[in-house]
Amino acid sequence: MIILHDPATLLHSTVEFLGAKLISALECPERISTILRAAQSTNHEIKIIHIDHDKAVTSGENQQSLLFRLLKSTHKQDYLDHLRTAYAIWYEEGLLEKDGTVLPECFPNKRMFDSQKLDSGLADPPKDIFARAGYYAFDLSAGISTHTWTSALASANLAVEGCRLITTPAVDASNNAVFALCRPPGHHCTTSMAGGYCYINNAVIAVESIRSFVSAHGPTSSMPKIAILDLDFHHGNGTQDYFYRDPGVLYVSIHGQDEYPYYSGQDTERGEGEGLGFNVNLPLPADWSVEQYLEKVELAIEHIGVYKPTHIIVSLGFDTFHLDRLGCFKLYTESYDIIARRFRSANALKNIPSLILLEGGYFLESLGENVIAFLQGWERTSTEISQNQLR
Ligand SMILES: [Zn+2]
Repeated sequence: MIILHDPATLLHSTVEFLGAKLISALECPERISTILRAAQSTNHEIKIIHIDHDKAVTSGENQQSLLFRLLKSTHKQDYLDHLRTAYAIWYEEGLLEKDGTVLPECFPNKRMFDSQKLDSGLADPPKDIFARAGYYAFDLSAGISTHTWTSALASANLAVEGCRLITTPAVDASNNAVFALCRPPGHHCTTSMAGGYCYINNAVIAVESIRSFVSAHGPTSSMPKIAILDLDFHHGNGTQDYFYRDPGVLYVSIHGQDEYPYYSGQDTERGEGEGLGFNVNLPLPADWSVEQYLEKVELAIEHIGVYKPTHIIVSLGFDTFHLDRLGCFKLYTESYDIIARRFRSANALKNIPSLILLEGGYFLESLGENVIAFLQGWERTSTEISQNQLR
């Protein structure tokens, strides 16, 4: 399987509050280095992509670029401007040291107001520099430092490049599935607010990339049907929210019940309007066994099989590992191999072009081998399928 990597994803480095302590964020550059080291010792092809940093940082956009067109059509422009400029503004105002991080201090919240009149003021971005940091974030784990914008762009660009590969008629069958080594992750970003280490929603960008590539290749009547399988320990609130009324995307998530981000992820959230029935949450209590997790995987496979997708996006997190401090599931390295094989060998899902996006996973000592276990489980099945087809 091709692994896509951009060295610019390593630049972003920030701090966060964990409990009452301000610490270096657990979502750190070493996550990517450790996965790369593990991948280099296998036969996976690592393809290096370089986003144009200078253009991204100085002008904030390149009209010719598909990435920027997709960003503009999916994420709010004032939010993107904030991501791009907040650090420089704080630094110039003397509010930060060079290696400092913009963190919010006050969040807008509808429950602050009984009056509808006051409540309507929440719709406008505030002028105050400190207020803006809270207006564009929903928690304290999405601080903005000097390279955040560049890394977030590079991360989203890997999603675009992954979609380019899986939608291009393949000479090489290995293009059927691509793993994008995204960092920062994306599934918590609402497209107007950062949170949970996420600044740009990479799954949203991936869906719109697939739609763009498919319509460029053929008649517009063949709109793709895209299934997103979210296997991060935490519910992908941002991805769910973006596609909640869209029947062209089936979102299926297996995640910790009543865990972060706390206010989404119930199994009663099933979509709205035309999207009703196209959102499937499969929350799981913390102390369930691997076997019980696999039962949810079978359910997810069933839902996705019935939907008959043309493309699959996997939001893949490894904070489901039993030693990860941000999750409390009990998955082991071999579990990832089994999950991938079960999914890829399901009759209804064989050989559907798939893009796997990295989301969370913070236990560095095992992160590399866990990723490789998943990719090898996925590939072993692909190899078995093509061998069977030859017989
Ligand atoms: Zn997570």
